[in-house]
Amino acid sequence: MGLRFGIIGYGGMGGWHKRHVETLEGMEVVAIHDIDPARVKAGEADGVRSYLYLQDFLKDSEIDVVIIATPNDFHMELALACAACGKHVISEKPVALSTSQLDEMIAAAERHNVVFTVHQNRRWDRDFRKVMNVLQSGEIGKPYVIESRVHGPNGAIHGWRSKKAHGGGMMLDWGVHLIDQILWMIKTPIKSVFCRMRSVMNLEVDDFFRLQMEFVDGLIAFVEVGTMCLEPLPRWHVGGSLGTVRIESFTSEGSLTILKRAAQHTDGPLVDTGAGPTRTFGKVGGVEVYNSTLEDPNPDWRDFYRNVKTAIEDGAELVVKPEEVRKVMRVMEASFESDRTGMPVVFCED
Ligand code: NAD
Repeated sequence: MGLRFGIIGYGGMGGWHKRHVETLEGMEVVAIHDIDPARVKAGEADGVRSYLYLQDFLKDSEIDVVIIATPNDFHMELALACAACGKHVISEKPVALSTSQLDEMIAAAERHNVVFTVHQNRRWDRDFRKVMNVLQSGEIGKPYVIESRVHGPNGAIHGWRSKKAHGGGMMLDWGVHLIDQILWMIKTPIKSVFCRMRSVMNLEVDDFFRLQMEFVDGLIAFVEVGTMCLEPLPRWHVGGSLGTVRIESFTSEGSLTILKRAAQHTDGPLVDTGAGPTRTFGKVGGVEVYNSTLEDPNPDWRDFYRNVKTAIEDGAELVVKPEEVRKVMRVMEASFESDRTGMPVVFCED
């Protein structure tokens, strides 16, 4: 039998889920629930059973799994309600507003024996997979620094994302993706977290943050998100003992990667910079442009849904595990704490 989805919150992301679930064999969206009558009408127009009231939606026995795509502050209570009705749960990111909320969600899923996961879809980003493949292959040696960044020029954040009470701000909106990518790729324990946040154009929430995670093996990872940046820095910049990865953007397919590897560390000549000479930052003696032999990844993020289906039907291991999402949540909490105190937070692994 196919897997039947219900969606709570039929806005931008709810609609996206409907369109994409329906491209997959053996999966269909049968119902939606939204508190906005206009979105209920939109659901009807899209040909699915559409409920204005949660209790009616939950009584629909043909819904196997619910995708929760409301503003962030409703994820927990809706997940608890769905699990209590025996429905499997996919929460949009960020899964919750705190680790304690998430713990309640995990406990409810266990109690009611339902599958529970989170739509961390950016694990399937092509740029991210490229970085992950390069690091795992050892092509640039041992990484010592990873910079992961999203800069945008739009300034103002609109709607519920600009409100603290709804779980707005860039740490919860985009930090959650970028931290999740780093922690999925780097399994080494975290030693400390240091974060500074700013509200440049949006007074109530963070619209710029720079987070530094230090790992016990010495690797430093920076994660930075800014909504008011007219000259964006590259999406990725990774330094390894044998080379450097630079990926310009995740929105354009164009210049996905430039991978250079130091062929040999010969001294370059002294270079005159005007006010003084430098050898360290002058021309390097031997650097070759290195063409990676790694296959260009071409991930299909709809594998997320396929994985949920096999987890529900055959007990397959989830790709996005609640305990991984919990660690990301703890890093975000440590980031807020670090910003509040201005100090690094020592990170204790569970
Ligand atoms: P949106 O404002 O476009 O849509 C939210 C919808 O939820 C609206 O139709 C609203 O009426 C409805 N709603 C609000 N409160 C509700 C409640 N208590 N019960 C039922 N319906 C309710 O927001 P969006 O951009 O679709 O974001 C929704 C969620 O999806 C957020 O958690 C967001 O972080 C996430 N999201 C994820 C991605 C991703 O790539 N994974 C991208 C965008 C948004």
